[in-house]
Amino acid sequence: MPSTAAIALGSNQGERHAYINAALRALENAEGIIIGVASEMIETDAVVAPGASSAKVDPYLNAAAVIETTRSPRELLKLLLAIEQALGRVRTPSEQWGPRTIDLDLLLFDDQVISEPGLTVPHPRMHERRFVLEPLAQITPDLRHPVLGKTIAQLLAGL
Ligand code: ATP
Ligand code: CA
Ligand code: CA
Repeated sequence: MPSTAAIALGSNQGERHAYINAALRALENAEGIIIGVASEMIETDAVVAPGASSAKVDPYLNAAAVIETTRSPRELLKLLLAIEQALGRVRTPSEQWGPRTIDLDLLLFDDQVISEPGLTVPHPRMHERRFVLEPLAQITPDLRHPVLGKTIAQLLAGL
């Protein structure tokens, strides 16, 4: 039985639409993954690291997708990071939440709760982010957060 996973996509650098579409295509072409449904893209102001100025940070395009996969959560995350790299994501250790061509986060994986070095599921900040919940609620409002016990629609309404 394949698992169901929810993924967040974001871009705030360059051809943002194209990066998100390319990431969706890469996911679709990867072995062991079928895209169930992808949301529309929404534009949101960037979240900046505490103390930094938001004035010069470009806004994000964000989207969400629900996929079916035979991969493990760890294998799926590895793939997400590889797609980010292939699409020109550069990680600068000094700059958290800096500009990026593409950011792919694993939000939910069935009702699994994982807390390992380098992999936390559900994504620890998803429930407090409108730019994550809004596109996700578009495609799967009734999906339930396994730790908080609330649906995506309820989490969004609670913001
Ligand atoms: P945030 O996690 O607050 O959205 P970010 O997406 O900018 O911030 P990154 O620099 O992209 O953070 O990721 C840092 C590390 O987080 C990744 O190298 C990855 O190993 C780890 N990580 C842990 N859990 C997850 C998850 N559920 N989805 C994506 N990355 C995760
Ligand atoms: Ca992120
Ligand atoms: Ca990320």
